[in-house]
Amino acid sequence: MLSYLHAFHAGNFADVQKHSSLALALAMMQSKTSGIACFDTHAGSAIYDLRSERARKTGEADYGVQKVWSGRDRLRSGDWKPFLDVLAGFNAGDGELSVYPGSPVWYRHFLRPADALTLFELHPSESEQLAGWAAEAPVRVLKQDGLAGLLKQLPPKQPRLLTLIDPSYEIKSDYIEVAETLGKAWQKCRHGVYLIWYPILTSGLQQQLKDAVGRTGVRKVLCSEVHLRKPPERGMVGSGMLVVNPPWGFDSRLSAMMSDVAGPDVLNLTHDIGWLVPE
Ligand code: SAM
Repeated sequence: MLSYLHAFHAGNFADVQKHSSLALALAMMQSKTSGIACFDTHAGSAIYDLRSERARKTGEADYGVQKVWSGRDRLRSGDWKPFLDVLAGFNAGDGELSVYPGSPVWYRHFLRPADALTLFELHPSESEQLAGWAAEAPVRVLKQDGLAGLLKQLPPKQPRLLTLIDPSYEIKSDYIEVAETLGKAWQKCRHGVYLIWYPILTSGLQQQLKDAVGRTGVRKVLCSEVHLRKPPERGMVGSGMLVVNPPWGFDSRLSAMMSDVAGPDVLNLTHDIGWLVPE
């Protein structure tokens, strides 16, 4: 059952939180020269056309990255610069954005020769598009289950690890499975940095993930959550990132970035950050 297509949601407020966190974590890890094994367990199709029928049907990017882009001169944190540079690289001119990069592209943009990138994607058409994009990039695309696939690849050859776990949570058991996979991955690579995205739903299902992560024994789990100030009555009302082993100072730098976009003229949300599990 693979019905989720990220093209309907690309560039929404949750993508802004997720991709700015990813870009920040990678930049901070790259302050050291040793190589990083990068993994993306649910990669999607890499490049999204914000003018496509799918994107226009929901219009989610209009209240996400388009707001950030149009207000970019007012962003105070210098950590937005790499994020904005990537967007500018895909979008000529000063108008609205028409192209939005997915997680593989954010990774790829910052990749150094010492780093390696492995992408998992199971959906037939998404993985085909991903492979087409990756054909010219020094990255590995595997059409495998991302959670089981990640465990097979650990521990990595490179001295450090950065993993994004970003499922669509179409299946309710995904919340528990993600937590159990994190526990197993951490046993194989305890110093790895793991980013786990999750939706904040009116149903409260995300609590299963947080409770299950708490039971794994994994330590040093930071939790960043954004909550829409004007949420819909049902469905996704915010989004969260768990960050295992965040680089030192990551929390204050991500907070500063989220504060910049929290106002009513940008994403209109609140941001909380704190330890789900301390050291
Ligand atoms: N990470 C992408 C980004 O930020 O641009 C978005 C990914 S989207 C939320 C989730 C993706 O996971 C979908 O493209 C879906 O086809 C894929 N997927 C679903 N189940 C999967 C599985 N078991 N293994 C790998 N990919 C899967």
